Amino acid sequence: MSSTPTIGVLALQGAYEAHAAMLRQLGAKGVLVRQPEDLANLDGLIIPGGESTTFLKHLERAGFFDALSTFVQQKPTFGTCAGAILLAKDVTNPPQRSLGAMDITVERNFYGRQNDSAILSAPTTLPGGPLEMVYIRAPRIAHIGPTVETFASRGDDPTLVREGHLLAATFHPELGHDLRIHQLFLDMVTKSKTA
Ligand code: GLN
Repeated sequence: MSSTPTIGVLALQGAYEAHAAMLRQLGAKGVLVRQPEDLANLDGLIIPGGESTTFLKHLERAGFFDALSTFVQQKPTFGTCAGAILLAKDVTNPPQRSLGAMDITVERNFYGRQNDSAILSAPTTLPGGPLEMVYIRAPRIAHIGPTVETFASRGDDPTLVREGHLLAATFHPELGHDLRIHQLFLDMVTKSKTA
């Protein structure tokens, strides 16, 4: 059995290369996903930041939305920023279609003005001290369900959350130098592979 996990990075638009580079640094194989068929044989998937409406437009292509929806129900998936919006059960400002996989409500563009885009440092329950978080026109997680665990927040709002095999961040961990969040995701993937 190969111990190197194969992680797909949805590469329809947005910050996918930086995610793939971080995965490589951690010894995982990062595979770019551009077609529904590319989801086969992956151990996990990252849905990067970008513009969620543009993602949705690309996903309207033959069967892609449904294939992705089935994938995220079954396999570890990490959504960052626009990716977190796609994973959410409810999206507001304005309401839009999503995969509905995670019990969170996300308000788009809450930190939407230019001066709300910022690099902030905040405490985290992950070991190793505060996290540096890069926010770009970020959404706000306005509500989390009872089975959602919070690792970090911005003010009172959770910014890094996990529910079962799903992880979501409203910031861009791939744009910093801190590998802890990608490592957390890889640990989730390894755990699900051996389960
Ligand atoms: N504002 C974007 C959206 O609503 C998300 C921004 C990002 O991914 N950096 O989809």
